[in-house]
Amino acid sequence: MSGGSPERSAWPETDTADHALIAAIDARRADLIALTQDLVRIPTLNPPGRHYREICGYLDARLSRAGFGTEILRATGTPGDSDRYPRWNIVARRDGARPGDCVHFNSHTDVVTVGEGWTVDPFAAILKDGRIYGRGACDMKGGLAASIIAAEAYIATCPDFAGAIEISGTADEETGGYGGVAWLAERGHFAPERVQHVIIPEPLHKDCICLGHRGVWWAEIETHGRIAHGSMPFLGDSAIRHMGAVLEEIERTLYPLLAGKRTDMPVIPSGARQSTMNINSIHGGEPEPDPEFTGFPAACVADRCRIVIDRRFLIEEDIAEVKAEMSRVLEAVRAARPGFTYEIRDLWEVTPTMTDRGAPVVRGVAQAIEKVLARQAGYVVSPGTYDQKHIDRIGRLKNCIAYGPGILDLAHQPDEWVGVDDMADSAKVMALTLAELLG
Ligand SMILES: [Zn+2]
Repeated sequence: MSGGSPERSAWPETDTADHALIAAIDARRADLIALTQDLVRIPTLNPPGRHYREICGYLDARLSRAGFGTEILRATGTPGDSDRYPRWNIVARRDGARPGDCVHFNSHTDVVTVGEGWTVDPFAAILKDGRIYGRGACDMKGGLAASIIAAEAYIATCPDFAGAIEISGTADEETGGYGGVAWLAERGHFAPERVQHVIIPEPLHKDCICLGHRGVWWAEIETHGRIAHGSMPFLGDSAIRHMGAVLEEIERTLYPLLAGKRTDMPVIPSGARQSTMNINSIHGGEPEPDPEFTGFPAACVADRCRIVIDRRFLIEEDIAEVKAEMSRVLEAVRAARPGFTYEIRDLWEVTPTMTDRGAPVVRGVAQAIEKVLARQAGYVVSPGTYDQKHIDRIGRLKNCIAYGPGILDLAHQPDEWVGVDDMADSAKVMALTLAELLG
């Protein structure tokens, strides 16, 4: 998907204004590279949530120069927020010459932990063979930089545009977005009367429009037993054996059921085009020994065993039915096993979302992709969630997509990179989208 693109010379349907925008992005190529490098060099690691104030300060200076009014807002009291690691967000707005729609580009500023296996400095942002390397280059500082360059080029080329452009840099997407987009949405920042179109430049390939994501249900299931001496297990009741029966029933009935549930959502990769469930963890009996401790565990029958399940569901499914399926598994085990008792606790849930292909922001980006890349836009849905969930559910704004440069598979990997050509192409798509929606 990266590298030199032969379609570069083919713009069959572009008019003069589009050519001017494309030329304005080309003229900013060095700036695009430098901006991306500057952003990657601010190590906004989350957890714990470092340097949010610094990156907001950087974006504030940059966007103020481009005529944006800015607000820097701390999501005080949200999960992870502390005086040591405050959750800072920036929202910048540039009003046009007359009333009209507002197009909002939302990027998260946090990056995940570096991990092992890097061959380059993850925060040096080195440029090599047309790629910028670094943690967050792909997910999603390259997308943030592309959206800023697109907005600046559009404002310079079409200064009398209607409506408004907003750019936000928000905290904590990698840990649920509660100190970022969710917090802003609760305060009305994505209310339909204020913002009409939202583009989230997550790395989902420069020729694809991501319409939404599957749903999530996390729950903890606990089985109960009775502690006894391990030499006389018949005097106790093993919670681990009960959990074994639960896992067996999941294998026997639930996994085949999930495999049969296919979706019309265009989820990528295609393996995720069905219901899935990961068993995130299992704990029971004696605790994991302290690494300092060299002795044996005590001989006990386990009186508690817990699993955490991570169920991803489809737009065709109802969450009540998703939960009922698991209840049926547990009730089937109860009917078959004397003394079996359990508890199930909800931990987290997100409803699936998928923006209509006919929505204005989707049509605008699709047209721009055709003009810039001379090919039809692809439509995809993400297997996991991202901040669109908050804009949809809390903000009540349905006209929202993810569109940005970068290759999804590189996110969170060692030697993560973003291609300069991909960033430039997607900046052109974003600028032409602004022309379409605000022109
Ligand atoms: Zn991301």
